[in-house]
Amino acid sequence: MSWIENILKDDNPATLEELIAKADQVRRMCRGDEVYLRGLIEITNYCQRNCYYCGLRRDNNALERYRLKAEEIIELALQAHKLGFQSLALQSGENPDRKTVDFLVRVVSEIRELTTRDGSIGLGITLSVGELSYADYKRLYEAGAHRYLLRIETTDPQLFASIHPPSQTLGKRLECLYYLKDLGYQVGTGIMVGLPGQTSDHLVADLQFFVDMDVDMIGLGPYIPHPQTPMGQKSVKSQVDPWVHTLKIMALTRILMPDINMVASTALQSLRPDGLKWGLRAGANVVMPILTPIEYREHYRLYANKNYKPFSQLKAEVEEAGFRLGLWQWGDSLRWAKRRQQSEENNEAGHMPAEEAM
Ligand code: SF4
Repeated sequence: MSWIENILKDDNPATLEELIAKADQVRRMCRGDEVYLRGLIEITNYCQRNCYYCGLRRDNNALERYRLKAEEIIELALQAHKLGFQSLALQSGENPDRKTVDFLVRVVSEIRELTTRDGSIGLGITLSVGELSYADYKRLYEAGAHRYLLRIETTDPQLFASIHPPSQTLGKRLECLYYLKDLGYQVGTGIMVGLPGQTSDHLVADLQFFVDMDVDMIGLGPYIPHPQTPMGQKSVKSQVDPWVHTLKIMALTRILMPDINMVASTALQSLRPDGLKWGLRAGANVVMPILTPIEYREHYRLYANKNYKPFSQLKAEVEEAGFRLGLWQWGDSLRWAKRRQQSEENNEAGHMPAEEAM
């Protein structure tokens, strides 16, 4: 991937412009101009983990914790469905205990049941609730969740160890991603760009990982320090620029993997007011409007200065950037759909009498 290294190391603004133009062209050719919606509900900011960069970490005692009730989540889901959202993303800190998983199974199955009663496909559900056991991922899949986002953050073992406590390992994160793939989820992952100690070589390896892992969705964004975290209290510089390199990695991902879904992250929009427009131009085709009730939003901050945009403003910005919102559809990853079709064809061929299959 030496051409990628050259792009990442080249700080000429024209290189970024050319790369973004190419990504935009690829994305319009493969995915059109639609931008899919995932209504984001941040169900709890309790977290049993202690990532050094995250404001929700267990040891952040300054944070007021909350947990939405099942009825509140279901009501938000139904309201979103009425507005034209066809997909939800349920996100939270990591709480891999029995009670939490039982709760999630109940919420997911009720949302699916209530939104499919009329015979329609109902609300598609993406989960982003962290590392769980194979059995728990399976229960959630069987309850009706069909996409899962689990960011790897970085694929470099040393860099990973520098941003997580020793109890959280890269090996475990990878194992979970393989579990999710095995179960048939549309699997999303992603990284933070601009981490202290991160280099462009790390980013090249991360891109290679996306391709090798054959992921269906990408959600990546700039590292933004949070003042109530160990990393936010140190001022260690990265060799990569969080803004420029996030856009470059997004554009390169779209070029290397034309048929995936990619999110224009809230972090990118928090770094600059025109972040959404740039993210879409760099190849993103998914936005995640925040549906969490207003009174809880300020308590769900993984990083500082998180940007909240009303839906009407988000819609206007998507249109100003030359795209349109894809309402009333799941907007699945095309890559995943192709893989599933291929596997169904293989299964059918496998069941044919030998002479027909030849
Ligand atoms: S990044 Fe996720 S797992 Fe880590 S502390 Fe934050 S919410 Fe918890």
